[in-house]
Order: sequence, then C-alpha cells, then structure tokens
Amino acid sequence: MKESAELVVGNASELLTCADDAPDLIGVIRGGWVAVRGGRVLAVGAKSDVEPLISSATEFIDAAGGIVAPGFVDSHTHVVFGGTRVGEYFAKIEKLSPEETERRGIRTGILTTLEPTRKHSLEFLYEETAARVKDMIVSGSTTIESKSGYGLDRETEIKQLEVNGLLEARLPVSIASTFLGGHGWPHDMSKEKYMDFLIKDMIPFVGSLGLAEFCDAWCDEGHYTAKECGAILEAGAAAGMRPKLHEGGYSYIGGAEVASDLHAVSADHLNYVPRKSLRKLAESGVTGVPLPGIDFAVGHPLPFDPAPMIDEGLEIAIATNCCPGCWCTSMPFIMILACRNHGMSSERAIRAATIAGAKALGRQDRVGSIEPGKNADIQVWNLGHHEDIAYHYKGNPVAIVIKDGKVAARDSRLVSGERRQRGSVNKG
Ligand SMILES: [Zn+2]
Repeated sequence: MKESAELVVGNASELLTCADDAPDLIGVIRGGWVAVRGGRVLAVGAKSDVEPLISSATEFIDAAGGIVAPGFVDSHTHVVFGGTRVGEYFAKIEKLSPEETERRGIRTGILTTLEPTRKHSLEFLYEETAARVKDMIVSGSTTIESKSGYGLDRETEIKQLEVNGLLEARLPVSIASTFLGGHGWPHDMSKEKYMDFLIKDMIPFVGSLGLAEFCDAWCDEGHYTAKECGAILEAGAAAGMRPKLHEGGYSYIGGAEVASDLHAVSADHLNYVPRKSLRKLAESGVTGVPLPGIDFAVGHPLPFDPAPMIDEGLEIAIATNCCPGCWCTSMPFIMILACRNHGMSSERAIRAATIAGAKALGRQDRVGSIEPGKNADIQVWNLGHHEDIAYHYKGNPVAIVIKDGKVAARDSRLVSGERRQRGSVNKG
C-alpha cells in the first residue's frame, strides 16, 4: 500500500517547482499539487498524481488559486546586530556633507554597529534579531544565511554565531551560519595586527566550536586586499569552513580571482567585477549573489547588471542583505527591485530567490525547489500569476509558509502553537 500524505497543498493556479533543470527557470505546473510526508516532499504534479495519496488523516491546504512555490532561500544577511543606523540612512538621502553629518553627531559605517552589538547580552541580541527573522519567515523565507562580523572580537563574534543557533532552535527556519571576522578591523587595532589575531586565533577557535559553516571576508578598496582575503579564506577552509566572499561591491581589486581559485560557494555584490572574471567565477562553479537591496538603500552609483553574468553562465542568487545599512526582511521586495531596477525577468528573480539561493549555500540537494525527497519548505502566494510577485507592490503577498512540512505562518503571523498541536490531531 502506498504511504499516504500527511499534508497536501492543492488548487494552485501555478505550482513553481524551481527544479534546477527547469527549461523555463521555474518549472511551472499549471494547477499543480504537492504532497508531504515526514517533513519531505512526497509527490508533486497534477491533481491526479497527488490525489491517490490523500487519506482521512491528510491535512488539506487549499491554495485557492494562489501560487505555490518553494520557500525562499535568503543567502546573504547580516541580520544579527544591535542598534540602528537610521541617522546615516537619512544623511545619505539628504546628501549631507561629511562635515555636516559629523556636526549633527551622526556616526556612520559598520564600526558604528560594533558598540551596540558588543554591549547587548546574548538574549537581548537574540530578541532584537528574532523580531527581524520572524518578519523574514512570514515573508516566505525558510532558509536564511546569517553572518557575524559586528564584533571583530572573540566574545562578540561567538555571541553572534550563538544567536544563529538560537534562531534555528526556537524559530521555524533553517539558519546557515557564516563567520565574517574579515568584515573589517576595530578602530583600536591595525589591520595587520587584527589579521594576525583573526587567522591564528579566532578562525581556528570558531572552527573548533563548529559554530559556522562558512568563512567570509570583504574584498574592496579600503577593506581587505584580494591577497589578504585569500589568506583569511584559506585559514577558514583549514578550520572546516567553506569560503564565501564579499567582492567588487564598490571597486574591483581582484576578489573574483580569489573566489574562483578557492572554489568559493558564492561571490557576493559583484557591481564592478569585469566580464572575464564573471566567466571565471562561472567556470569555477561559484554562485554570484548580487544584492538589489543594498544598491537601492545606498543609492549605488553603479547598480549591478545581471546581463553579463547571465551571458557568462553565472548562476545568480539574490538576497536581502538585511543589515543596518539595508533594513530589508522581505524577499518579495528584493524581487521587485531585481526586476524593476536591474532588468531581471520575474522567472530569473524567482529562481534567484529559491534554487540559486540554495546553491549559494551549498544546500541545493535539500532546499530551494519542490521535488520529491526535498525538505517540504513551501509557500503560498496570494497572487494569480507568478509575474505578479514583482508587479503587485502589496504589503506581503505570502499567505502561508510551510517549514519542514508544518504550517509555520499564515497571513503574516507565525503559528508556532499550531506546529505542536498537529501530532495529536493527526490520527493516521
Ligand atoms: Zn554583506
């Protein structure tokens, strides 16, 4: 006898599998249905493929003519931070001079975020971060990458990574944890001295604790050089962390070559990366992660252009880059920006937010698409056609979020109580 489904979602106008090899990029199944069992996708296809799996114990979710899609994979965030930089945001909008910004007492840059992040207790930092992550979940994100990098000292970096563990333990979301000790260096230390501490002390320590899956650094003028980033990422790899790299966001100084040579899982920002280096990234199997939110938030002088990336065969993921400089928790908003400001098609943007995001985290075997055996991370959009995701500028188009086969959010609210009850209701 066939195993029956624990949960079935049906009556969608379109189901988007977002399978990696979908010729239309998103695998549209008109009127598609999906069955779930044991937290995994059991079957996906037409109503006739899924209906035989329904028993009296199966919970049915009526998509009511909406869109069924994989949960978003938000593959680049700095969501764990203390404080706010709203003053800096408006100083940029109002084009205040550096002198006027200083006269008004407005502090700027990532080092400004160090003080509140260092000061907060683990629980307080968790609470501030969890509020943002809850917004992300109800907006359809079921896997979120989260970087440290606002401590630049041992205690705070570890605290940030511990917040990542608490987020995954307490909320219906998967967290991919990244150590970004190479985000900058503190005011009171030279770059050389900090790098020595980073490579010889912090990276091996973080690796020994197993708190991070990835090691990341920032390659740009005024930040770390390509050579320095190579040394940081090699130390990370030796400590068991796969490389990622911020590069080409504000200048190009060779980061793509390092990311390619080290087979980084992703190279992020990419505004200034020349075409031949994009090709090298593609040939090395690196996923590119350009960031529409930060280009929008800072009024970037050279917004990224996906066209040469696509021409050169680079897989593109998009992400919120949620941070004090880009307080964005909504992947649907990022998709609107990717299409309207950067010329991406809706299909490209949806792929970039799902299966390509999974590739940017090396998790494409588990998440990012609706295929049998994959995690049942699924969402329902209150929209009639997939292009509407970047065309209807509404508050939150995500009606239902399913994480590991259980309803995690409905109508912009988490339903954590419901997750626990389901076992007793289910008689099957
Ligand atoms: Zn970043």
